[in-house]
Amino acid sequence: METNEVNAFKIGPIRPPSEANSLLLRVTENCPWNKCKFCMLYKKNDFHTRPVVEVKKDIDCMADYRDRILRHFESGTYDMESINAEYRTLAYDEEKFCYQMVFRWLTEGDRQAIFLQDANTMVLRPDWLAEILRHIRLRFPEIQRITSYGRANTLAKIAPDDYAMLREAGLNRIHSGYESGSDKVLQLIAKGTTQEEQIIGGRKVREAGIQLSIYFMPGVGGRELSEDNAVETAKVINEANPDFVRLRTFVLRTGSLMEEVRNNGGWTEAADMEKLLEIRNMIAHIDPQKAHGKITSDHIINLLQEVGGDMDTDIPWMLDYIDSFLALPELEKRKYQLARRMGFPLDWKQLWRLKESDLARIEDTAKNTADERDWEAKLHMFLDRYI
Ligand code: SF4
Repeated sequence: METNEVNAFKIGPIRPPSEANSLLLRVTENCPWNKCKFCMLYKKNDFHTRPVVEVKKDIDCMADYRDRILRHFESGTYDMESINAEYRTLAYDEEKFCYQMVFRWLTEGDRQAIFLQDANTMVLRPDWLAEILRHIRLRFPEIQRITSYGRANTLAKIAPDDYAMLREAGLNRIHSGYESGSDKVLQLIAKGTTQEEQIIGGRKVREAGIQLSIYFMPGVGGRELSEDNAVETAKVINEANPDFVRLRTFVLRTGSLMEEVRNNGGWTEAADMEKLLEIRNMIAHIDPQKAHGKITSDHIINLLQEVGGDMDTDIPWMLDYIDSFLALPELEKRKYQLARRMGFPLDWKQLWRLKESDLARIEDTAKNTADERDWEAKLHMFLDRYI
């Protein structure tokens, strides 16, 4: 049965964490590149674009659910009894799922934001994408922010006129997984792009008045390319001047093609603390005269989630903050490392918030795991579960 026969819209598997509250619109499916060695997301699925007419039907379907739900909103509150009654009348599970999704977006999400899925929607013909953007603006006039993923080499190929058309049609922000600014690292991980494309693509996006949000993976070059990864990544940040730099500390995933890279030799996964030193090194090479956006560590995978701020003013603070952690006694650092890798959401000064018994167990493990490889394996066991 076709999805649209059941008054439902398609939803892809992921969105950036900063789009957790956005409505999700699936414009393309899966990834047109699909070769990055660290990535396990779409490996079993082929890429295809969706016909514009189908995507527009999905937008209409979302707008219909929004209107139906808002009919039960009066005097600042939802009539949950009639919402539940309406929900029960939906014939298919897909419809129920879509209704729930729009309800959650209306009640808990960002009612002004839509994210276009999947991995590289910018690969779509610009006039098709513009038509979709205009339809979103037509059916959702309340929307203030439309965002999408786009690969660096795709971004480098799009003509300035097309960017201008997309901006005019309503595209506000592009998220791009640059991962590293080092050509050596990009080749190693089969990213299918170059530093030059990253800079050209990033500049084109910003010159069109579209915000650029780029992601880097400190540690992805391993011990061998740590220095290169830090310095060349900072170079891309300085030259592209993105609005946002988002850090995603690299972790070698069990079952990923990075295991082959490691097994082939010449690449050794850096220790957790070495990855933090690489972050420090990268930040130290950012030129506040050139880079004016924000750094964020908005993911549990980063050891120090507080590292962030405006690049033109907060770099000294970020370096001091990292240094104050590095200056702690070894045991204190280890205690925090383990707690953090187990999911502790705050910084090391807040460890007292843990239950005494949990803290005692953490301290015991930190004290009694003398072998560094055992220690890293323990941390990795927790890190491996984060996406
Ligand atoms: S471009 Fe993105 S989604 Fe595609 S393989 Fe690389 S990391 Fe995965």
